[in-house]
Amino acid sequence: MNLFSDNADLAFHVREGIPWESFVPLWEEGFRFEDGPRSLEEARAVYEASLAEVGEFAAREIAPRAREIDREGVAFRDGRVIHPAGLLANVEGLKRLGVLAPSLPRDVGGFNFPFCVGAAMLEIVGRACTNTLLLYAFYQGPALMVLRFGTRDQIERWVKPLASGEISGAVAMTEPEAGSDVGNVSTSAAAEGDHFRLNGRKQFITNGCGDVCIVLARTEPGSKGLAGLSLLVVPRVENGRDNYRVARPETKNVIRGSATCELAFEGSCAELLGQRGDGFRQILTFMNEARAAVAIQGLGISQAALEAARAYAGQRVQMGRPIARHELVADMLLDMEAETAALRALVYRCTALQDRVLGLERGGGGTARREAARLERALRDRTPLVKWFGAERTLWIARAAVQVHGGYGVVAEYDVERHYRDALILPIYEGTSQIQALMSLKDQVRWCVERPHRLLTGAVGVEAPPDTLGDAVREMAAEYNRTLRYVVGEALGAAGVIRALRGREPDRERMAYALLSAERLCAMLAYTRAAEALAAHAGTQRRRMAERFVHRSLPLLRMHGQIVRSGDRSTLEALRA
Ligand SMILES: Cc1cc2nc3c(=O)[nH]c(=O)nc-3n(C[C@H](O)[C@H](O)[C@H](O)COP(=O)(O)OP(=O)(O)OC[C@H]3O[C@@H](n4cnc5c(N)ncnc54)[C@H](O)[C@@H]3O)c2cc1C
Repeated sequence: MNLFSDNADLAFHVREGIPWESFVPLWEEGFRFEDGPRSLEEARAVYEASLAEVGEFAAREIAPRAREIDREGVAFRDGRVIHPAGLLANVEGLKRLGVLAPSLPRDVGGFNFPFCVGAAMLEIVGRACTNTLLLYAFYQGPALMVLRFGTRDQIERWVKPLASGEISGAVAMTEPEAGSDVGNVSTSAAAEGDHFRLNGRKQFITNGCGDVCIVLARTEPGSKGLAGLSLLVVPRVENGRDNYRVARPETKNVIRGSATCELAFEGSCAELLGQRGDGFRQILTFMNEARAAVAIQGLGISQAALEAARAYAGQRVQMGRPIARHELVADMLLDMEAETAALRALVYRCTALQDRVLGLERGGGGTARREAARLERALRDRTPLVKWFGAERTLWIARAAVQVHGGYGVVAEYDVERHYRDALILPIYEGTSQIQALMSLKDQVRWCVERPHRLLTGAVGVEAPPDTLGDAVREMAAEYNRTLRYVVGEALGAAGVIRALRGREPDRERMAYALLSAERLCAMLAYTRAAEALAAHAGTQRRRMAERFVHRSLPLLRMHGQIVRSGDRSTLEALRA
């Protein structure tokens, strides 16, 4: 088995769907590197060979260990976190393959692979074992932060060891009183000579027991909210002694093989990363990548759940025929397949956009920068949507896989109960589904206020084929636009638009109905963007699946639209009461 080549839909995206030509020449700067590919064809052959290698390893070693990793979970002895042995063996294998940080530049230990390749690797690893994906992600993730904002010396000391797997990292934002409310961070760092002293607690930190932690802390005394925050690099051990304490890993029923740690900083020695006071803007770059990564984690779980359900339904016989041949089960299986394909199409559309943006930024030049700015907005539009869709729809797919298994779906001998438990975390971390919805709404309202005529012409446009499938996708966008227009009108009115144009905050009381509608609007736009991505590659082979997704999504959108436009304020009245 090979978890790359046996996945026809993933192989389709890698071979035909991803527009490699639009960014690989930029990433490879015209194929001028001695140690890089000499042409687009060579680059693509290298990507495919690497994916096949990871796919083979994932099938042979990672997947067979997944159940045991979950069963064993994370232990805590003498103040030390003990990872499941299988998890460490998996990461060791990925390290041997040299793929811990594939998208880093070659001179710091990466392969300069575009994010589309890294995303496919994550998907493959995640399908085999989501706990392994979580540790795997904490080599390249923190390394990219140091690479982006660090000094040459910091890159030398932190990026190379992370890329080679000598050390692993963590990124710590959340605190007991600062979850969704990042502006409430109270961990503080005071300058002392050429370094900082850090005090405070961080909560729920994935791999917080790693060797280095990038911490968001308040460096400007008296500052409030998102201002006055900075990023700091905090080594786990300083001068041979623990520099911070892992108070405990959480005992939990989801992603049991992943260490989720509470950290205590008590005068810990830290070094500034990037600009003082610019921490929130800097950490957003990580959060955006991490949000896409959560969607990819969902994709891996969805694929695994779909395959398990299909296999089970094919062999389980009830009432004289395999359950896969009973209408209701067949319907579930086809929906699971279509939803997984829609998620994959959206994921690779986002990573390809990101690759193009980064490529253009490397290319420099005024025209390239202008195009990068335009695409960056398209990426910003889709980032909360891919996170929302990846999390919420994976949860549905994993639940459907349990249902297909009947009673066996909830017993430990079958993987789907683990997939369902693991899917539960997706709508929570890296910004909950509600926070994604609020972010998406905020951007859409802001863009409407900047150009009020968009409210009349349609705030959101889609690129869809000139046929009936495309018509349905355009109707989805139209339904969203109608609903957004209603909500913005209710929230702001003409006076509110003028107020916003003058840079004044909208009235919170008037905005309440928009906030109440945010998740329905987010769902509508997420389905629309997923449909757009799926319809873009709906050739003869894939058309039935795309039609199924689009034709089942459109009525769902209409339902959300009708509820929002009904103006039902009963929740707000209950709140006031
Ligand atoms: C397993 C695990 C791993 C994690 N890994 C990391 C990590 O590596 N690094 C890190 O920094 N953090 C990490 N986190 C923290 C995670 O990002 C937070 O749990 C998440 O942001 C939510 O914060 P909270 O738990 O405090 O919930 P809260 O913010 O208290 O939210 C509770 C509920 O209220 C809703 N809510 C909150 N505010 C609003 C609002 N304004 N409008 C509407 N609804 C709202 C939320 O959507 C949610 O449903 C991890 C968490 C877990 C469980």
